[in-house]
Amino acid sequence: MIPSEADLQLLFARLNYQHFNGEIPDCRIRYNARFSNSAGRITYRTPLLIELSPKHFQKYPQALEETLLHEMVHAWCFAKFRDMGHGPRFKRKMRDLGLTSIYHDLGNVRAFNESSKRYILRCEHCGFEVLRRKKPGKPVSCARCDKRRFNPRFPLTIYEITSLEAVGTTVENARAARGGPG
Ligand SMILES: [Zn+2]
Ligand SMILES: [Zn+2]
Repeated sequence: MIPSEADLQLLFARLNYQHFNGEIPDCRIRYNARFSNSAGRITYRTPLLIELSPKHFQKYPQALEETLLHEMVHAWCFAKFRDMGHGPRFKRKMRDLGLTSIYHDLGNVRAFNESSKRYILRCEHCGFEVLRRKKPGKPVSCARCDKRRFNPRFPLTIYEITSLEAVGTTVENARAARGGPG
């Protein structure tokens, strides 16, 4: 049996006082049955919304508190510092709580709100960009600036994607591009 949503709300309140001095503002804690490959996620709105996968915790009930804590660290970073994603502040707080995983899941279950492609390699010379799953293990230069070989004049810069932000639907976007309400 997994806890009811009312119990989740109480668990949130307890963890908030135990680990965060009660500094996390009111959050809605909900189950979302549509999550199939993720354990939890946070939506940065007012009030903050934390959603957990009921399916996941029926299978791994012992992981619930840790996943909720993970999302609460996001909520805390956001409320105090407007900080999203898994940056240094997030990792430090996780360490303080004795948690290690920066993922929203267990084992091979993929995070929902993080693309499997986490890095952008960018040529600062010509602006060429490519998405990668991993950081390259060796020096890479821009294939557009020099097709033939590695060229240290055009090294690619590594950018890590640490948060995603919805900026509207494609419908709204097309409407805006046409200019005016539609
Ligand atoms: Zn996270
Ligand atoms: Zn280039």
